[in-house]
Amino acid sequence: MAEENQAAVSPLASSNVTMDMLVSLCKRRGFVFPSSEIYGGLNGFFDYGPLGSELRRNIRNAWWEDMVHRRDDIVGIDCSIISHPKVWEASGHVGGFSDPMVDCKESKQRYRADQLFFAPVVVAGEKIGYVSVLEDAKMQTEAEEQANSLKRKLAKQGALEPIVLQDYTNAKPDEYALIPSPATGKPGSLTAPRDFNLMFETHVGAMRDESAVAYLRPETAQGMFFNFKNVVDTTRVKLPFGIAQIGRSFRNEITPRNFVFRSREFEQMEMEYFIHPTADWQKEHRAWIDWCKNWLVSIGLPAARLSEYDHPKAKLAFYSRGTTDIMFEYPFGVQELWGIAARGDYDLQQHIKFSGKALDYFEEATKSKVVPHVIEPAVGVDRIFLAVLCSAYYEDVVEGEKRTVLRLHPRLAPVKCGVFPLVKNKPELLAHAEALYKRLRRKWNVFWDVSGAIGRRYRRMDEIGTPFCVTVDFDTIEKDGSVTLRDRDTTQQVRLSEDELVAELSRRIDGV
Ligand code: ATP
Repeated sequence: MAEENQAAVSPLASSNVTMDMLVSLCKRRGFVFPSSEIYGGLNGFFDYGPLGSELRRNIRNAWWEDMVHRRDDIVGIDCSIISHPKVWEASGHVGGFSDPMVDCKESKQRYRADQLFFAPVVVAGEKIGYVSVLEDAKMQTEAEEQANSLKRKLAKQGALEPIVLQDYTNAKPDEYALIPSPATGKPGSLTAPRDFNLMFETHVGAMRDESAVAYLRPETAQGMFFNFKNVVDTTRVKLPFGIAQIGRSFRNEITPRNFVFRSREFEQMEMEYFIHPTADWQKEHRAWIDWCKNWLVSIGLPAARLSEYDHPKAKLAFYSRGTTDIMFEYPFGVQELWGIAARGDYDLQQHIKFSGKALDYFEEATKSKVVPHVIEPAVGVDRIFLAVLCSAYYEDVVEGEKRTVLRLHPRLAPVKCGVFPLVKNKPELLAHAEALYKRLRRKWNVFWDVSGAIGRRYRRMDEIGTPFCVTVDFDTIEKDGSVTLRDRDTTQQVRLSEDELVAELSRRIDGV
Protein backbone atom coordinates (compact mmCIF):
# COMPACT_ATOMS: atom_id res chain seq x y z
CA MET A 1 0.00 0.00 0.00
CA ALA A 2 2.56 2.50 1.15
CA GLU A 3 4.72 2.18 -1.97
CA GLU A 4 1.72 2.62 -4.23
CA ASN A 5 0.67 5.75 -2.42
CA GLN A 6 4.16 7.21 -2.51
CA ALA A 7 4.44 6.73 -6.27
CA ALA A 8 1.10 8.42 -6.82
CA VAL A 9 2.19 11.64 -5.13
CA SER A 10 2.84 14.13 -7.89
CA PRO A 11 6.14 15.95 -7.67
CA LEU A 12 6.18 19.55 -6.47
CA ALA A 13 5.37 21.60 -9.51
CA SER A 14 6.40 25.18 -10.08
CA SER A 15 3.38 27.31 -9.56
CA ASN A 16 2.66 30.64 -11.19
CA VAL A 17 1.93 32.29 -7.92
CA THR A 18 2.17 36.07 -7.76
CA MET A 19 3.41 37.94 -4.71
CA ASP A 20 -0.09 39.34 -4.18
CA MET A 21 -1.52 35.81 -3.98
CA LEU A 22 1.17 34.75 -1.52
CA VAL A 23 0.97 37.80 0.70
CA SER A 24 -2.79 37.41 0.85
CA LEU A 25 -2.58 33.71 1.79
CA CYS A 26 0.07 34.49 4.41
CA LYS A 27 -2.17 37.12 6.02
CA ARG A 28 -5.41 35.12 5.69
CA ARG A 29 -4.07 31.91 7.18
CA GLY A 30 -1.67 33.38 9.72
CA PHE A 31 1.74 32.75 8.21
CA VAL A 32 3.10 36.31 8.21
CA PHE A 33 1.79 39.65 9.49
CA PRO A 34 3.29 43.12 9.12
CA SER A 35 5.10 43.78 12.39
CA SER A 36 3.14 45.75 15.01
CA GLU A 37 0.31 46.05 12.51
CA ILE A 38 -2.17 47.79 14.82
CA TYR A 39 0.24 50.77 14.88
CA GLY A 40 0.52 50.82 11.11
CA GLY A 41 3.43 48.38 10.83
CA LEU A 42 7.15 49.15 10.60
CA ASN A 43 8.76 48.95 7.18
CA GLY A 44 11.17 46.04 6.89
CA PHE A 45 9.91 44.10 9.92
CA PHE A 46 7.53 41.15 10.02
CA ASP A 47 5.82 38.97 12.60
CA TYR A 48 5.38 35.29 11.89
CA GLY A 49 1.98 33.92 12.88
CA PRO A 50 1.09 30.47 14.24
CA LEU A 51 1.63 28.66 10.92
CA GLY A 52 4.54 30.79 9.75
CA SER A 53 6.46 30.24 12.96
CA GLU A 54 5.98 26.47 12.60
CA LEU A 55 7.15 26.51 8.98
CA ARG A 56 10.19 28.61 9.89
CA ARG A 57 11.02 26.33 12.81
CA ASN A 58 10.78 23.29 10.52
CA ILE A 59 13.14 24.90 8.00
CA ARG A 60 15.62 25.67 10.78
CA ASN A 61 15.34 22.19 12.25
CA ALA A 62 15.79 20.49 8.87
CA TRP A 63 18.95 22.55 8.22
CA TRP A 64 20.34 21.91 11.72
CA GLU A 65 19.64 18.17 11.54
CA ASP A 66 21.29 17.80 8.14
CA MET A 67 24.11 20.29 8.68
CA VAL A 68 25.04 19.48 12.29
CA HIS A 69 23.41 16.32 13.68
CA ARG A 70 23.83 14.10 10.63
CA ARG A 71 27.46 15.01 10.02
CA ASP A 72 30.52 14.14 12.07
CA ASP A 73 32.55 17.16 11.05
CA ILE A 74 30.29 20.07 12.03
CA VAL A 75 29.37 21.44 15.46
CA GLY A 76 26.89 24.17 16.35
CA ILE A 77 27.11 27.30 18.50
CA ASP A 78 24.68 30.03 19.55
CA CYS A 79 26.20 33.47 20.15
CA SER A 80 24.80 36.67 21.59
CA ILE A 81 23.36 39.19 19.15
CA ILE A 82 25.43 42.02 20.58
CA SER A 83 29.14 41.41 20.88
CA HIS A 84 32.21 43.51 21.63
CA PRO A 85 32.22 46.45 19.17
CA LYS A 86 35.80 45.61 18.19
CA VAL A 87 34.44 42.51 16.46
CA TRP A 88 32.87 44.74 13.83
CA GLU A 89 36.00 46.82 13.42
CA ALA A 90 38.02 43.66 12.83
CA SER A 91 35.46 42.25 10.41
CA GLY A 92 35.43 45.45 8.38
CA HIS A 93 31.73 46.15 9.01
CA VAL A 94 32.26 49.45 10.87
CA GLY A 95 34.36 50.82 8.05
CA GLY A 96 32.76 49.27 5.04
CA PHE A 97 29.41 47.55 5.51
CA SER A 98 27.46 50.00 3.43
CA ASP A 99 25.25 50.23 0.39
CA PRO A 100 25.29 53.15 -2.03
CA MET A 101 22.30 55.39 -1.35
CA VAL A 102 20.68 58.05 -3.50
CA ASP A 103 18.04 60.57 -2.40
CA CYS A 104 15.26 62.22 -4.34
CA LYS A 105 15.30 65.76 -2.90
CA GLU A 106 11.77 66.46 -4.05
CA SER A 107 9.85 63.35 -2.91
CA LYS A 108 12.23 62.60 0.02
CA GLN A 109 12.40 58.99 -1.24
CA ARG A 110 15.59 57.06 -0.71
CA TYR A 111 16.90 54.37 -3.08
CA ARG A 112 19.75 51.94 -3.23
CA ALA A 113 21.85 53.29 -6.08
CA ASP A 114 22.64 49.79 -7.34
CA GLN A 115 18.92 49.02 -7.55
CA LEU A 116 18.06 52.18 -9.49
CA PHE A 117 18.68 51.73 -13.22
CA PHE A 118 18.93 54.39 -15.89
CA ALA A 119 19.61 54.69 -19.61
CA PRO A 120 20.01 57.49 -22.12
CA VAL A 121 17.26 57.71 -24.73
CA VAL A 122 18.76 58.14 -28.19
CA VAL A 123 16.63 58.75 -31.28
CA ALA A 124 18.27 58.84 -34.70
CA GLY A 125 21.66 59.48 -33.09
CA GLU A 126 20.40 62.33 -30.87
CA LYS A 127 20.26 61.95 -27.06
CA ILE A 128 16.81 63.27 -26.10
CA GLY A 129 16.84 62.52 -22.36
CA TYR A 130 17.02 59.68 -19.81
CA VAL A 131 14.74 57.05 -18.33
CA SER A 132 14.96 55.46 -14.87
CA VAL A 133 13.42 52.36 -13.30
CA LEU A 134 13.76 50.41 -10.06
CA GLU A 135 15.26 46.93 -10.31
CA ASP A 136 12.54 44.47 -11.17
CA ALA A 137 11.95 41.46 -13.44
CA LYS A 138 10.09 43.75 -15.88
CA MET A 139 12.39 46.78 -15.72
CA GLN A 140 13.64 46.50 -19.31
CA THR A 141 10.10 46.62 -20.73
CA GLU A 142 9.19 49.44 -18.41
CA ALA A 143 12.25 51.46 -19.46
CA GLU A 144 11.43 50.92 -23.15
CA GLU A 145 7.86 52.12 -22.59
CA GLN A 146 9.17 55.24 -20.86
CA ALA A 147 11.59 55.87 -23.73
CA ASN A 148 8.82 55.55 -26.32
CA SER A 149 6.61 57.89 -24.39
CA LEU A 150 9.45 60.47 -24.13
CA LYS A 151 10.00 60.19 -27.87
CA ARG A 152 6.29 60.81 -28.50
CA LYS A 153 6.17 63.69 -26.04
CA LEU A 154 9.09 65.45 -27.70
CA ALA A 155 7.70 64.55 -31.17
CA LYS A 156 11.02 63.05 -32.29
CA GLN A 157 11.16 61.16 -35.57
CA GLY A 158 13.48 58.26 -36.37
CA ALA A 159 14.62 55.02 -34.85
CA LEU A 160 14.90 54.60 -31.09
CA GLU A 161 18.26 53.05 -30.25
CA PRO A 162 18.29 50.04 -27.89
CA ILE A 163 17.83 50.97 -24.22
CA VAL A 164 20.89 49.80 -22.29
CA LEU A 165 20.23 49.96 -18.55
CA GLN A 166 23.01 50.55 -16.04
CA ASP A 167 22.76 51.00 -12.31
CA TYR A 168 23.07 54.48 -10.83
CA THR A 169 26.51 53.84 -9.34
CA ASN A 170 27.74 54.00 -12.96
CA ALA A 171 26.20 57.41 -13.62
CA LYS A 172 28.68 60.20 -14.35
CA PRO A 173 28.45 63.36 -12.20
CA ASP A 174 27.11 65.40 -15.13
CA GLU A 175 24.29 62.86 -15.55
CA TYR A 176 22.87 63.13 -11.99
CA ALA A 177 20.81 66.20 -12.88
CA LEU A 178 19.54 64.63 -16.11
CA ILE A 179 18.27 61.28 -14.83
CA PRO A 180 14.60 61.39 -13.78
CA SER A 181 13.66 60.39 -10.23
CA PRO A 182 11.53 57.22 -10.19
CA ALA A 183 9.25 58.99 -7.70
CA THR A 184 8.45 62.10 -9.74
CA GLY A 185 9.39 61.01 -13.28
CA LYS A 186 11.29 64.33 -13.62
CA PRO A 187 15.05 64.99 -13.71
CA GLY A 188 16.92 67.30 -11.36
CA SER A 189 16.14 65.93 -7.91
CA LEU A 190 18.47 62.92 -7.56
CA THR A 191 21.64 63.32 -5.47
CA ALA A 192 25.02 61.72 -6.09
CA PRO A 193 25.28 58.22 -4.55
CA ARG A 194 26.87 58.05 -1.11
CA ASP A 195 27.66 55.25 1.29
CA PHE A 196 25.15 54.35 3.96
CA ASN A 197 26.27 52.01 6.76
CA LEU A 198 23.71 49.25 7.32
CA MET A 199 24.52 48.44 10.94
CA PHE A 200 22.02 49.22 13.68
CA GLU A 201 23.69 51.05 16.53
CA THR A 202 22.75 50.87 20.17
CA HIS A 203 24.32 51.71 23.55
CA VAL A 204 25.24 49.19 26.18
CA GLY A 205 24.96 50.19 29.84
CA ALA A 206 23.87 53.42 31.49
CA MET A 207 26.18 55.75 29.57
CA ARG A 208 25.00 57.04 26.20
CA ASP A 209 28.35 58.28 24.93
CA GLU A 210 30.68 57.04 22.20
CA SER A 211 32.35 54.55 24.54
CA ALA A 212 29.04 52.71 24.98
CA VAL A 213 28.26 52.26 21.27
CA ALA A 214 27.58 48.68 20.21
CA TYR A 215 25.93 47.07 17.21
CA LEU A 216 23.21 44.54 16.54
CA ARG A 217 25.00 41.88 14.52
CA PRO A 218 24.55 42.23 10.74
CA GLU A 219 25.53 38.56 10.26
CA THR A 220 26.04 35.54 12.49
CA ALA A 221 29.32 34.49 10.87
CA GLN A 222 31.72 36.49 13.07
CA GLY A 223 30.68 34.45 16.12
CA MET A 224 32.25 31.38 14.52
CA PHE A 225 35.53 33.22 14.00
CA PHE A 226 35.94 34.83 17.42
CA ASN A 227 34.94 31.54 19.07
CA PHE A 228 37.25 29.48 16.86
CA LYS A 229 39.73 28.72 19.64
CA ASN A 230 36.97 28.00 22.19
CA VAL A 231 35.49 25.38 19.87
CA VAL A 232 38.84 23.82 18.98
CA ASP A 233 39.80 23.60 22.66
CA THR A 234 36.51 22.16 23.91
CA THR A 235 35.58 19.68 21.20
CA ARG A 236 37.49 17.04 19.28
CA VAL A 237 37.13 18.62 15.85
CA LYS A 238 39.88 17.87 13.34
CA LEU A 239 40.50 19.76 10.11
CA PRO A 240 38.51 20.00 7.94
CA PHE A 241 35.60 20.88 10.22
CA GLY A 242 32.74 23.34 10.41
CA ILE A 243 31.03 25.57 12.97
CA ALA A 244 27.37 26.36 12.33
CA GLN A 245 24.95 28.86 13.80
CA ILE A 246 21.34 29.93 13.31
CA GLY A 247 20.24 33.31 14.57
CA ARG A 248 18.77 36.73 14.00
CA SER A 249 20.70 39.36 12.08
CA PHE A 250 19.90 43.03 11.57
CA ARG A 251 20.59 45.33 8.65
CA ASN A 252 19.18 48.79 8.24
CA GLU A 253 18.40 48.10 4.58
CA ILE A 254 17.81 51.29 2.57
CA THR A 255 14.92 49.78 0.67
CA PRO A 256 13.45 46.69 2.33
CA ARG A 257 11.17 45.07 -0.22
CA ASN A 258 9.63 41.99 -1.75
CA PHE A 259 7.93 40.90 1.45
CA VAL A 260 10.28 38.88 3.69
CA PHE A 261 12.94 38.62 0.97
CA ARG A 262 14.74 41.77 2.11
CA SER A 263 13.88 42.83 5.61
CA ARG A 264 15.70 44.71 8.35
CA GLU A 265 15.53 41.91 10.87
CA PHE A 266 15.96 38.41 9.52
CA GLU A 267 17.35 35.05 10.42
CA GLN A 268 20.51 33.50 9.04
CA MET A 269 21.82 29.95 8.92
CA GLU A 270 25.56 30.15 8.42
CA MET A 271 28.38 27.68 8.56
CA GLU A 272 32.13 28.26 8.46
CA TYR A 273 33.94 25.23 7.08
CA PHE A 274 37.62 25.40 8.05
CA ILE A 275 40.08 23.72 5.72
CA HIS A 276 43.84 23.34 5.75
CA PRO A 277 45.59 26.31 4.05
CA THR A 278 47.05 23.97 1.45
CA ALA A 279 43.75 22.15 0.76
CA ASP A 280 42.16 22.37 -2.68
CA TRP A 281 39.74 25.22 -1.87
CA GLN A 282 38.07 25.08 -5.30
CA LYS A 283 37.10 21.46 -4.74
CA GLU A 284 35.73 22.24 -1.27
CA HIS A 285 33.87 25.28 -2.58
CA ARG A 286 32.26 23.24 -5.36
CA ALA A 287 31.33 20.48 -2.90
CA TRP A 288 29.50 23.01 -0.68
CA ILE A 289 27.64 24.57 -3.61
CA ASP A 290 26.43 21.08 -4.54
CA TRP A 291 25.52 20.25 -0.95
CA CYS A 292 23.44 23.41 -0.62
CA LYS A 293 21.65 22.87 -3.92
CA ASN A 294 20.87 19.25 -3.12
CA TRP A 295 19.58 20.27 0.28
CA LEU A 296 17.22 22.81 -1.24
CA VAL A 297 15.88 20.18 -3.63
CA SER A 298 15.51 17.73 -0.72
CA ILE A 299 13.14 20.13 1.05
CA GLY A 300 11.01 20.52 -2.05
CA LEU A 301 12.38 23.38 -4.17
CA PRO A 302 12.25 22.48 -7.87
CA ALA A 303 15.78 22.16 -9.30
CA ALA A 304 14.57 24.00 -12.42
CA ARG A 305 14.04 27.16 -10.39
CA LEU A 306 17.58 27.12 -8.99
CA SER A 307 20.64 28.49 -10.77
CA GLU A 308 24.18 29.60 -9.94
CA TYR A 309 25.74 33.02 -10.20
CA ASP A 310 29.52 33.40 -9.94
CA HIS A 311 30.53 36.83 -8.69
CA PRO A 312 32.93 38.39 -11.21
CA LYS A 313 36.51 38.37 -9.89
CA ALA A 314 36.77 42.15 -10.34
CA LYS A 315 33.89 42.77 -7.93
CA LEU A 316 35.13 40.49 -5.14
CA ALA A 317 36.65 41.84 -1.95
CA PHE A 318 40.45 41.66 -2.15
CA TYR A 319 40.66 38.68 0.23
CA SER A 320 37.87 36.69 -1.42
CA ARG A 321 38.83 33.82 -3.68
CA GLY A 322 35.43 33.19 -5.14
CA THR A 323 31.75 33.56 -4.34
CA THR A 324 28.90 31.66 -5.95
CA ASP A 325 25.28 32.47 -5.17
CA ILE A 326 22.52 29.93 -5.53
CA MET A 327 19.73 31.90 -7.16
CA PHE A 328 16.02 31.18 -6.96
CA GLU A 329 13.39 32.20 -9.46
CA TYR A 330 11.06 34.28 -7.26
CA PRO A 331 7.94 35.89 -8.74
CA PHE A 332 9.82 39.22 -8.74
CA GLY A 333 12.88 37.83 -10.57
CA VAL A 334 15.86 35.54 -10.14
CA GLN A 335 17.50 36.55 -6.85
CA GLU A 336 20.15 35.42 -4.38
CA LEU A 337 19.02 32.74 -1.99
CA TRP A 338 22.28 31.27 -0.65
CA GLY A 339 25.82 32.66 -0.93
CA ILE A 340 28.79 30.29 -0.82
CA ALA A 341 32.03 32.22 -0.34
CA ALA A 342 35.66 31.09 -0.25
CA ARG A 343 37.15 33.65 2.15
CA GLY A 344 40.73 32.41 2.63
CA ASP A 345 42.02 33.10 6.15
CA TYR A 346 41.00 36.77 6.14
CA ASP A 347 38.53 36.63 9.04
CA LEU A 348 40.72 34.65 11.44
CA GLN A 349 43.72 36.82 10.59
CA GLN A 350 41.74 40.00 11.22
CA HIS A 351 40.64 38.76 14.66
CA ILE A 352 44.21 37.67 15.43
CA LYS A 353 45.33 41.20 14.56
CA PHE A 354 42.62 43.07 16.47
CA SER A 355 42.47 40.85 19.57
CA GLY A 356 46.14 39.98 19.82
CA LYS A 357 45.11 36.36 20.54
CA ALA A 358 46.29 33.25 18.71
CA LEU A 359 43.49 31.73 16.65
CA ASP A 360 45.28 28.78 15.20
CA TYR A 361 45.03 25.04 14.96
CA PHE A 362 47.70 22.60 16.06
CA GLU A 363 48.28 19.95 13.47
CA GLU A 364 49.42 16.68 15.05
CA ALA A 365 50.88 15.21 11.87
CA THR A 366 53.34 18.05 11.24
CA LYS A 367 53.50 19.30 14.84
CA SER A 368 52.89 22.78 13.53
CA LYS A 369 50.32 25.54 13.95
CA VAL A 370 48.22 26.65 11.02
CA VAL A 371 45.55 29.30 10.50
CA PRO A 372 42.88 27.51 8.47
CA HIS A 373 41.08 28.90 5.44
CA VAL A 374 37.32 28.92 5.24
CA ILE A 375 34.37 28.19 2.95
CA GLU A 376 31.19 29.93 4.09
CA PRO A 377 27.70 28.88 2.99
CA ALA A 378 25.33 31.61 4.30
CA VAL A 379 21.59 31.57 3.80
CA GLY A 380 18.55 33.41 5.14
CA VAL A 381 15.69 31.42 6.68
CA ASP A 382 13.20 34.00 5.45
CA ARG A 383 14.40 33.70 1.85
CA ILE A 384 14.03 29.92 2.03
CA PHE A 385 10.60 30.40 3.63
CA LEU A 386 9.51 32.55 0.68
CA ALA A 387 11.03 30.19 -1.92
CA VAL A 388 9.29 27.24 -0.27
CA LEU A 389 5.90 28.98 -0.36
CA CYS A 390 6.41 30.12 -3.98
CA SER A 391 7.18 26.54 -5.02
CA ALA A 392 4.39 24.94 -3.03
CA TYR A 393 1.48 27.26 -3.85
CA TYR A 394 -0.84 25.62 -6.30
CA GLU A 395 -4.37 25.97 -7.50
CA ASP A 396 -6.12 22.92 -8.91
CA VAL A 397 -9.56 21.40 -9.18
CA VAL A 398 -10.76 18.58 -6.96
CA GLU A 399 -14.23 17.10 -7.44
CA GLY A 400 -15.19 20.05 -9.63
CA GLU A 401 -14.18 22.57 -6.99
CA LYS A 402 -11.20 24.93 -7.17
CA ARG A 403 -8.80 24.47 -4.30
CA THR A 404 -5.71 26.29 -3.12
CA VAL A 405 -3.11 23.81 -2.00
CA LEU A 406 0.35 24.23 -0.53
CA ARG A 407 2.32 21.20 -1.63
CA LEU A 408 4.81 21.56 1.20
CA HIS A 409 7.31 18.81 1.83
CA PRO A 410 5.97 16.81 4.82
CA ARG A 411 9.17 17.62 6.73
CA LEU A 412 8.40 21.34 6.48
CA ALA A 413 4.60 21.36 6.74
CA PRO A 414 3.46 23.36 9.81
CA VAL A 415 0.73 20.82 10.56
CA LYS A 416 1.59 17.23 9.69
CA CYS A 417 -1.81 15.64 9.95
CA GLY A 418 -5.46 16.61 10.45
CA VAL A 419 -7.51 14.29 12.64
CA PHE A 420 -11.23 14.23 11.94
CA PRO A 421 -14.04 12.31 13.57
CA LEU A 422 -16.57 11.77 10.76
CA VAL A 423 -19.47 13.01 12.92
CA LYS A 424 -19.53 14.89 16.18
CA ASN A 425 -22.70 13.47 17.71
CA LYS A 426 -21.48 9.94 18.34
CA PRO A 427 -19.57 9.88 21.67
CA GLU A 428 -17.84 6.55 21.03
CA LEU A 429 -16.55 7.71 17.66
CA LEU A 430 -15.42 11.06 19.11
CA ALA A 431 -13.61 9.35 21.98
CA HIS A 432 -11.82 7.01 19.58
CA ALA A 433 -10.74 9.90 17.36
CA GLU A 434 -9.60 11.96 20.32
CA ALA A 435 -7.46 9.12 21.64
CA LEU A 436 -5.81 8.80 18.23
CA TYR A 437 -5.29 12.60 18.08
CA LYS A 438 -3.58 12.52 21.47
CA ARG A 439 -1.38 9.62 20.39
CA LEU A 440 -0.27 11.39 17.21
CA ARG A 441 0.38 14.76 18.84
CA ARG A 442 3.01 13.24 21.09
CA LYS A 443 5.10 12.95 17.93
CA TRP A 444 3.92 15.63 15.54
CA ASN A 445 2.01 18.89 15.32
CA VAL A 446 -1.44 17.58 14.40
CA PHE A 447 -4.77 19.37 14.10
CA TRP A 448 -8.13 18.37 15.51
CA ASP A 449 -11.17 19.42 13.46
CA VAL A 450 -14.77 18.41 14.03
CA SER A 451 -16.56 21.23 12.24
CA GLY A 452 -18.09 21.09 8.77
CA ALA A 453 -18.31 18.46 6.07
CA ILE A 454 -15.23 16.30 5.59
CA GLY A 455 -14.57 17.88 2.18
CA ARG A 456 -14.39 21.34 3.74
CA ARG A 457 -12.08 20.09 6.46
CA TYR A 458 -9.77 18.64 3.77
CA ARG A 459 -9.74 21.98 1.89
CA ARG A 460 -8.77 23.89 5.03
CA MET A 461 -5.85 21.53 5.56
CA ASP A 462 -4.85 21.65 1.85
CA GLU A 463 -4.61 25.43 1.97
CA ILE A 464 -2.11 25.38 4.82
CA GLY A 465 -0.10 22.51 3.35
CA THR A 466 -1.05 19.69 5.74
CA PRO A 467 0.13 16.58 3.88
CA PHE A 468 -2.13 14.03 5.59
CA CYS A 469 -5.61 13.79 7.07
CA VAL A 470 -6.98 10.90 9.10
CA THR A 471 -10.68 10.22 9.44
CA VAL A 472 -12.25 8.07 12.11
CA ASP A 473 -15.60 6.75 10.85
CA PHE A 474 -18.26 4.17 11.67
CA ASP A 475 -16.17 1.30 10.31
CA THR A 476 -13.43 2.27 12.77
CA ILE A 477 -15.61 1.71 15.79
CA GLU A 478 -17.91 -0.97 14.42
CA LYS A 479 -15.45 -3.16 12.53
CA ASP A 480 -11.66 -3.41 12.79
CA GLY A 481 -10.47 -0.11 14.26
CA SER A 482 -8.93 0.93 10.93
CA VAL A 483 -8.92 4.59 9.87
CA THR A 484 -8.73 6.45 6.55
CA LEU A 485 -5.50 8.21 5.58
CA ARG A 486 -5.92 10.82 2.88
CA ASP A 487 -2.99 12.19 0.89
CA ARG A 488 -3.04 15.94 0.13
CA ASP A 489 -1.37 15.77 -3.29
CA THR A 490 -3.10 12.76 -4.82
CA THR A 491 -6.29 13.06 -2.70
CA GLN A 492 -6.17 9.24 -2.57
CA GLN A 493 -7.39 7.48 0.53
CA VAL A 494 -6.31 4.21 2.07
CA ARG A 495 -7.48 2.29 5.13
CA LEU A 496 -4.88 1.43 7.73
CA SER A 497 -4.72 0.09 11.24
CA GLU A 498 -3.55 2.66 13.80
CA ASP A 499 -0.11 1.07 14.07
CA GLU A 500 0.24 1.02 10.29
CA LEU A 501 -0.84 4.65 10.24
CA VAL A 502 1.87 5.70 12.71
CA ALA A 503 4.51 3.74 10.77
CA GLU A 504 3.37 5.27 7.47
CA LEU A 505 3.37 8.81 8.85
CA SER A 506 6.85 8.31 10.35
CA ARG A 507 8.14 7.13 7.02
CA ARG A 508 6.57 9.95 5.04
CA ILE A 509 7.27 12.79 7.50
CA ASP A 510 10.52 11.83 9.17
CA GLY A 511 11.89 9.46 6.55
CA VAL A 512 12.31 6.63 9.10
P1 ATP B 1 21.98 40.87 -0.86
O1 ATP B 1 23.03 41.04 -1.94
O2 ATP B 1 20.68 40.29 -1.34
O3 ATP B 1 21.81 42.09 0.00
P2 ATP B 1 24.08 39.75 0.65
O4 ATP B 1 24.98 39.23 -0.42
O5 ATP B 1 24.42 41.02 1.33
O6 ATP B 1 22.56 39.78 0.13
P3 ATP B 1 25.01 37.98 2.66
O7 ATP B 1 25.68 39.03 3.44
O8 ATP B 1 25.85 37.06 1.84
O9 ATP B 1 23.88 38.63 1.74
O10 ATP B 1 24.05 37.16 3.64
C1 ATP B 1 23.85 35.78 3.52
C2 ATP B 1 22.40 35.44 3.29
O11 ATP B 1 21.57 36.10 4.24
C3 ATP B 1 21.85 35.89 1.94
O12 ATP B 1 22.16 34.95 0.94
C4 ATP B 1 20.36 35.93 2.22
O13 ATP B 1 19.78 34.63 2.11
C5 ATP B 1 20.30 36.39 3.66
N1 ATP B 1 20.02 37.84 3.73
C6 ATP B 1 20.91 38.84 3.57
N2 ATP B 1 20.31 40.03 3.72
C7 ATP B 1 19.01 39.79 3.98
C8 ATP B 1 17.86 40.61 4.24
N3 ATP B 1 17.96 41.93 4.29
N4 ATP B 1 16.67 40.01 4.46
C9 ATP B 1 16.56 38.66 4.43
N5 ATP B 1 17.60 37.84 4.20
C10 ATP B 1 18.81 38.38 3.97
